[in-house]
Amino acid sequence: MQEKINALKQLLSENKNILITVHRGPDGDAMGSALGFYNVLVQLGYNVNVITPNDYASFLHWMPGNDKVIVFTQEEKRTIEITEKADLIFLLDFGQIARLDSYANTVQNATAKKVMIDHHQQPDESISDILFSDVTACATAQIVFEIIDSLDWKHLINKEVAECLYAGIMTDTGSFKYSSTTEKTHHIIAELIGKGANNSKIHDLVYDNFSENRVKLFGYCLNQKLLLFKENNSAIISLTAEELERFNFQKGDTEGVVNYALTIEDVIFAVFIAEKEGMVKLSLRSKGDFKVNEIAKKYFNGGGHMNAAGGISDVSVEKTIEILKKIFKEYKTQLNNTKL
Ligand code: 5GP
Ligand code: MN
Repeated sequence: MQEKINALKQLLSENKNILITVHRGPDGDAMGSALGFYNVLVQLGYNVNVITPNDYASFLHWMPGNDKVIVFTQEEKRTIEITEKADLIFLLDFGQIARLDSYANTVQNATAKKVMIDHHQQPDESISDILFSDVTACATAQIVFEIIDSLDWKHLINKEVAECLYAGIMTDTGSFKYSSTTEKTHHIIAELIGKGANNSKIHDLVYDNFSENRVKLFGYCLNQKLLLFKENNSAIISLTAEELERFNFQKGDTEGVVNYALTIEDVIFAVFIAEKEGMVKLSLRSKGDFKVNEIAKKYFNGGGHMNAAGGISDVSVEKTIEILKKIFKEYKTQLNNTKL
């Protein structure tokens, strides 16, 4: 770690034009890590840009620095120019270049030095010059905090930085309840509150900020679209593009739906399927040691963590449900015997 920190210090002393980017469909951890680090770097006089591959949920727009974020799909020419001019690129909260989607080539071809900070399994070591990987970390925001600490920059963690990092850790731990949440996580969270993060306000802004349509869409999912496979300890909720349209779907509206399927007693494996932007996207969640990242990788060209993973299906929603039913059967014994 110290060697990597020294190498990072060297890069930070030589380069002033910094770009921070995150995975496609940025979540709270991606945006919290990016904007937390952004708010530190700007205090030191760096020229910093934050670019996301595409748009993200409006319940993340309150984060300090959000108004500076540039979305690749909305401003291709400008983002390409910025990426080509950058001296140093931070890649946060992803380990595979493909997770940048249509922005991947631009970043890959950029001449800048690259630093990857991530907590996903098996990050691709060939992408970056320095890789900070900790697969035990509950969130990339936690690693960012530790890096800031190792750089002796803790005094730069002001209210803005603290709120971004807090939101990153909060969202990736399901509000501090996943097993990845450790004593260290709580110590860091305590420090962030000490630095001014208003914890209860952040919870409100992220979780209690639904539009009327979003609440009704959740109701529809639970009332009409929940498929329960009791004998396989599994459940599916699915939505077609037409259904999303009916509820005037906005980015982020379905985030969290899958967790409701997992609240049912004895459900170990829950899947949410949605037809979005011409793709059939899956969110997989589990309890105990049932490894959904392995299923995401094997069947849906995806990945993630043991209890939270995602991927894409190349067939319709209906056919994807049929594939899942077969997977449930194949894993029946394991699902029936998963201990919490
Ligand atoms: P979500 O279901 O919230 O979209 O994603 C859950 C977790 O799975 C996140 O940690 C995310 O990074 C990972 N994930 C989601 N989609 C993909 C994907 O298409 N590929 C990979 N490798 N990971 C994904
Ligand atoms: Mn994350």
